[in-house]
Amino acid sequence: MMREIFSFTVAGKIIFGQGAFDRLVDCVKEMGKKNPFIVIDNGLLKTGIERRLSELFSRHACGFSLFDKIAGEPPIEIADEAALMASEKKADLIIGIGGGSAMDVAKAAAVLVTNGGNAEDYLGLNKVPGPGLPKIMIPTTAGTGSEVTFTSVFIRRDLKKKEGINSPFLYPEMALLDPLLTLSVPPEITAATGIDALCHAIESYISISASPASEMISSEAIGLISSNLRTAVHNGADTQARESMMLGSLYAGIGLANAGVTAVHALSYPLGGRYGISHGLANTVLLPSVLRFNLPGAMEKLAAIAEMTGEVCENMSVREAAFLAVEGIEELIWDCGVVSTLETLGIKKEDFADLADAALTVTRPLANNPRKISRQNAMDIYEDAF
Ligand code: NAD
Repeated sequence: MMREIFSFTVAGKIIFGQGAFDRLVDCVKEMGKKNPFIVIDNGLLKTGIERRLSELFSRHACGFSLFDKIAGEPPIEIADEAALMASEKKADLIIGIGGGSAMDVAKAAAVLVTNGGNAEDYLGLNKVPGPGLPKIMIPTTAGTGSEVTFTSVFIRRDLKKKEGINSPFLYPEMALLDPLLTLSVPPEITAATGIDALCHAIESYISISASPASEMISSEAIGLISSNLRTAVHNGADTQARESMMLGSLYAGIGLANAGVTAVHALSYPLGGRYGISHGLANTVLLPSVLRFNLPGAMEKLAAIAEMTGEVCENMSVREAAFLAVEGIEELIWDCGVVSTLETLGIKKEDFADLADAALTVTRPLANNPRKISRQNAMDIYEDAF
């Protein structure tokens, strides 16, 4: 059988391993940069990371500026603010340290410094005219995979929705991943961000835009995340589980960048935009319901996911194995302590129609979904997750 032509892109250089953070200044020097601008999650400051940064940079006689205003998922204006400060500081490199929120701001700021304008001008696909300042992304959650994607996601408070800048110029030149940075992530955030990573892995695997290369990396991510998430949540000091989770979220991010996500993300965006529910939690609550809906459109792939997640599928039909995969994922979410439903999150049934309308505008992920979704289907999925 002749394969369709496919392409596969990976962000610049990836450095991975326990203690890799200590190499940061070497990386800055390797890139020939002298004046880095660091965009950091404010919540991280209590972990002592600022002191560590000061020690690292002063040891190498190198300075840096810090932008530490990221607290929660970012409104779009904060990218403009970060870019303005980076320009004033004459930054020659942008470093993002944090979860997806800080990294997304850092990536957008890098292209705003060189291209001018406001972040709002570049929402959508391929709207950024040219390259930005070079970027190093350092994730501290295992998580979004933003360190290897071409996307920055923002909340538009005026429109009560989330929207993204999607451009090849957002691909980080370097991703520096140190699993030890995730040791301080509390259990509930480990669970929600970990299941977000599992969503990226599963959604990119079942996406109709998947290629053999993306399927290979997404399936590896599904295995790593499903077999390590429980330990990372319940015994957060287990460095082996943290390392596997970070590797899994990295692979899931690469899968997502190449094959896209599907209806879970499309239906979850309005929950973030309208109700302020965190990205990871919104995806977690919707994942089983969307997969149940997708069963008839992705039977073979869901059956394969049952094997990847360690279900015993001997003597089972493809259909039975596919159903078992969805059950297993529901159990994993439960075991990680996420017992929320849309109802417990305060969503009102009478909002389902508006939420469905908003979800249907998130067209790129919906186009990747293995089963076409109507407005009524979207409302039914919200009902199922209620
Ligand atoms: P986050 O960055 O908002 O962080 C969640 C919480 O974890 C925050 O309170 C933060 O202070 C805390 N935290 C982060 N690292 C910590 C650490 N090491 N120790 C203790 N606390 C820590 O959450 P996230 O899920 O990583 O990112 C969510 C954002 O990323 C959303 O805006 C989402 O839309 C976006 N996103 C982007 C992409 C992409 O490709 N760019 C993909 C998926 C999601």
